[in-house]
Order: sequence, then C-alpha cells, then structure tokens
Amino acid sequence: MSDFRIKLRRRNIPEEDLLADLKRVASELSKNTVTTAEYDARGQFGVNTFLRRFKQWNLALQRAGLEAPNRQNIPDAELFENLANAWTSLGRQPFGRDMDKAHGHSKFSLGTYEDRFGSWNKALLAFESFIRAGQAEAAPSSRTGTTSRRRTGSKINWRLRAQVLIRDSCICQMCGASPAKNPDITLHADHVVPWSKGGETILDNLRTLCLKCNIGKSDMHIA
Ligand SMILES: [Zn+2]
Repeated sequence: MSDFRIKLRRRNIPEEDLLADLKRVASELSKNTVTTAEYDARGQFGVNTFLRRFKQWNLALQRAGLEAPNRQNIPDAELFENLANAWTSLGRQPFGRDMDKAHGHSKFSLGTYEDRFGSWNKALLAFESFIRAGQAEAAPSSRTGTTSRRRTGSKINWRLRAQVLIRDSCICQMCGASPAKNPDITLHADHVVPWSKGGETILDNLRTLCLKCNIGKSDMHIA
C-alpha cells in the first residue's frame, strides 16, 4: 500500500488536519509516538509542513497528545550512563522491560534505546563496546608529577565504576550483598590498594563494595 501515496502540497492546512494525520500514523504503528522517518513513510503531509507550523517535531507530537521523547538530543554517552545506572541499581543486566520509567531504574524509555540502536540487544552490545573503550582511555601516561609515578587520578568515573561492578556481578566483594537480592543495597567501586597509598585507579585495583562494607572499611583505617 505504501508505494501509492501522495504528498499534499496545499497551503494553510488546518492544524487539526495535521495533528489528526499524525495521530492516525501513530495509531497505525500502534505506538504513542512517531518519528519523522515513520511519518515520512506513512503521512499524508510533508514533515517540513509540520516543522514550519510547529517549529519542532516534538512540539507537533505534544500538540497531538503523543509522547515527545526529545530523543534526538540525548548523547549516546548519556544513554549508556543511564543504562549503567539501571544495571548497577538492579544488580543484574537489565531486560528491555526494566527500562520502563515507572520502575524507577531508568530515565529514558526502552523505545529511546530501540530507536537509537535498532533493538535492546544492539543497545546492550553498543554499551559493552563503549564501556570497554573507556578502560583504554582511563589509563593516561601523564608524567607531570616529578616525584610520583602515579598514572591515574583518584576519581573513578562512571564508566570504570560500571565496569568494576559488572565484572563483580554487582556483588559486594566483602559480604556478598547485591541489589539483585536486596534493592536497598547500594554498591560502590573501591580501591583495593588505597589511592593515598599509591594504588592506581585501574580495573585491577578496584573492587565492588556495598555502602556498609565501604564505610566499615574507612572506620577501620581511621582507628
Ligand atoms: Zn558488603
């Protein structure tokens, strides 16, 4: 059917007609949002007509009562960071359905990931590559310090933290606690050899600890 379609070029198309056609396409797709590509393939009017009228595609979606995820503006890194947070707060690899915002583990919907990467599985694969690439970056060979042979800073960035927690299956390496069993558990990445004692911020010198064990460990050092 879609090989026979016409684009109406008439001017001053009533707003209601534009919005009604947008809703029709959403309903045909059984979705509550429509991408410009989807509309282009099925819509009665040109995407540019909407952009002229509503300035932004998302504003047209909003006016039609559809979901406007603003997903074009979200950098990949932010989607991956959100995925890492979902993973480590769940204590396991998230399923697509875990990304439902209602569950509180994700601020972006499954649809946002599917639209960007093609499917949830492809999003997971892209995430894996991104996290792995982060490790290579996190080992700079700066030799600015004259007395110190230190290569890394003390701060653990979110990518490295995710890599540590995922490597450790989101299980506290001291007490075995995991958010997968107890949602109240919060996990941290901790230096095995403290940074203050020359330990580097690298995967091999980091381990997963729950908040309780991490605090207990600091008390021990203070005492
Ligand atoms: Zn623990």
